[in-house]
Amino acid sequence: MKAATFQGVGEVKVIDVPKPSIKNPDEALLKVTLGAICGSDLHAYHGRIPMSVGELLGHEFVGVVEEVGSAVRRFKPGDRVVVSFYTSCGHCALCRKGWFNECVNMATFGFGAVLGDLGGGQAEYVVVPLADSSMEHIPGGMSDEQAIFVGDILSTGFFAAERAEIKPGDVVAVIGAGPVGLMATMCAQLFGPSRVLVVDMVDSRLETAQELGGIPINASQMHPVESIARLSGGLGADSSIEAVGAAASVDTAIQCVRGGGTISMVGVPSEFTGDFPYYYMWEKSLTFRSGRCNVQKYMRPLLDLIAAGRLKPDAIISHRMKLDQAEEAYRMFDAREATKIVLTP
Ligand SMILES: [Zn+2]
Ligand SMILES: [Zn+2]
Repeated sequence: MKAATFQGVGEVKVIDVPKPSIKNPDEALLKVTLGAICGSDLHAYHGRIPMSVGELLGHEFVGVVEEVGSAVRRFKPGDRVVVSFYTSCGHCALCRKGWFNECVNMATFGFGAVLGDLGGGQAEYVVVPLADSSMEHIPGGMSDEQAIFVGDILSTGFFAAERAEIKPGDVVAVIGAGPVGLMATMCAQLFGPSRVLVVDMVDSRLETAQELGGIPINASQMHPVESIARLSGGLGADSSIEAVGAAASVDTAIQCVRGGGTISMVGVPSEFTGDFPYYYMWEKSLTFRSGRCNVQKYMRPLLDLIAAGRLKPDAIISHRMKLDQAEEAYRMFDAREATKIVLTP
């Protein structure tokens, strides 16, 4: 089968690799019908997540079940499914507390041996372990493009918005209008804010944010913290959502909220450690939340919200390309020439 593979820092190639097959009874084999390139794929692309040459990429995908192991109960061949970007077991102590994102048996697709040695979704086929607790059925009538982001960026945007503790009438600041920031902008509206202010430096992304109900702030033209203060009666935002992971954007997310506010960080950190303003956090009584999205908790309700027409995540797709064009697609996404690219095998 064809698959997008890591070939070194900044190098992706689509090559022929062996078709994967089911080895354990809890697994499902999917024929991938659509994959996407995610911002966190760039951590592999730039070598921040160490991968070996030839390892498969991609963790955002939908497909049709081709075969299931003997222990799989919820799915059968022919079912259309969306898959979480990581697997969770559903039965460990943390899954049973609802923290699927902290499952002790977790593994992540598309990042090679270092994150659990699963296959990748930018491929023609992929095996999903722990299938019963890692996949959801796509409702009839819903397209692949509508469903695909439920497995990663839409769930992450919702997780970010929910943990920002947005109350009706609040001012929310979203730092970063990449795909996750745009999903957070969309999901924040579900909680009734008066304004969602969106900070970025790329005009095309800010335009999309505006179409999704956000108020754009171009950080290359105005100071984001001052602009957010001005647009919130001088106080600062009630809460902020950090959707980049860079130290500077985390800092903006902290500085732009009012006393007693909440910061919800979902950007994958670019650094392992750094300065943290402990005294400032204490002085302003701020709440700081962060983490990898609890995808499995949100897949079903988000699919229901899409089916009801209340969320339109496919609105952010800027480029539709073939899996064969993955090399060029990665270059474009890395250069911010594309907001969101989907790949058809
Ligand atoms: Zn991702
Ligand atoms: Zn678990």
